[in-house]
Amino acid sequence: MPDIKMEESSYLPNPVPTLTALFGMIKQAQVQDDKGNVTVANILHSKIDSYMAENLPLLIVELEKTGHHLETSLPDGRKFLICATERMANELFLKERIPSFCLKELRLLSCRDANFAALYDAKQIFAGKIVDNPPEEVFGKMEIKDAPRLHNKAALIGLARLRNDIARCSACPLHQTRFRSVPGEGHTAPGIVFVGEGPGQTEDDTGKPLVGSAGQELNIALAAAGIVREHHFLTNVVKCRPPENRQPKPSEMQACSHFLYEQIELLNPTVIVALGSTALGFFFPTKKLSITKIHGKLQKANVRGVERLIYPALHPAAALRQKQYKDMFTNDIMRLPMVLEGLKKGEVSCETDSTGEGV
Ligand code: SF4
Repeated sequence: MPDIKMEESSYLPNPVPTLTALFGMIKQAQVQDDKGNVTVANILHSKIDSYMAENLPLLIVELEKTGHHLETSLPDGRKFLICATERMANELFLKERIPSFCLKELRLLSCRDANFAALYDAKQIFAGKIVDNPPEEVFGKMEIKDAPRLHNKAALIGLARLRNDIARCSACPLHQTRFRSVPGEGHTAPGIVFVGEGPGQTEDDTGKPLVGSAGQELNIALAAAGIVREHHFLTNVVKCRPPENRQPKPSEMQACSHFLYEQIELLNPTVIVALGSTALGFFFPTKKLSITKIHGKLQKANVRGVERLIYPALHPAAALRQKQYKDMFTNDIMRLPMVLEGLKKGEVSCETDSTGEGV
């Protein structure tokens, strides 16, 4: 990383006087390398205080408009970045090897109660996103290995139709409690389709898959593996949030299964990553497969008459709960580029043949 120096004018006074002044100063800030080139533009330092916390929604809107990000610190001294978009967080994460933090969730939370004390106390919001000591084995390998493909027009049209069908679906009781359905999103010609269990609170709020704390954990692992999230597709076994984040019932999975089948048929990915035991069970309903035993080992499954490659991985939510699972999950994701490359060259075969029948 080049030596960078900050211009004095980039430092914010504390407390921040007004939002106008704050944004004015963001625009003045420049970060330059030794030759005077702007290398990382518009990073500002500040302590997060009640003023900023109360105005976070406005701040984020402004960051979105201007493309800036803000380096800030919590009262206990831990530093993190406020980024308006997930893409920006990922780019910074890759480029600078510093903790990144996507504030989409924080924005949602702050819109709800506009109270930084509550945000700070909501430990789960910060869990997994502030990385004090990034493990070298993960951070030492950052490199984008993942070329985008051309979009698939037929899939684009098919996915739009499915999105409408899912939004109107009332085939199982989950439609009664959902705020938004979460059909899935991503590239229309993905190498990988990631399949999680079901939407959580943040997904239900936004209509987007894997954007809550587990999604952030996935983003960190993807960035570390050099996988660009937008080049692939993310979805869940069920498209509406099970209340209290309970596991979806077999009847709910059955009612929703045709949506996932159709998505897979439209997208025709090289590999399906089954995140966690529910997704794994979806593809192998007649087998008793343990995710902790077969994670990271490519499997074959019969999915509506087509043999598909399933790569079981720990669910990122498990990684947030236990250090042991975090290592397993990170390793599973870190191995993915190698698996894809091996499949392209015909050098990777299924380590186990657990051919199932599909739901
Ligand atoms: Fe329909 Fe699936 Fe939602 Fe149930 S979970 S209402 S089957 S879209």
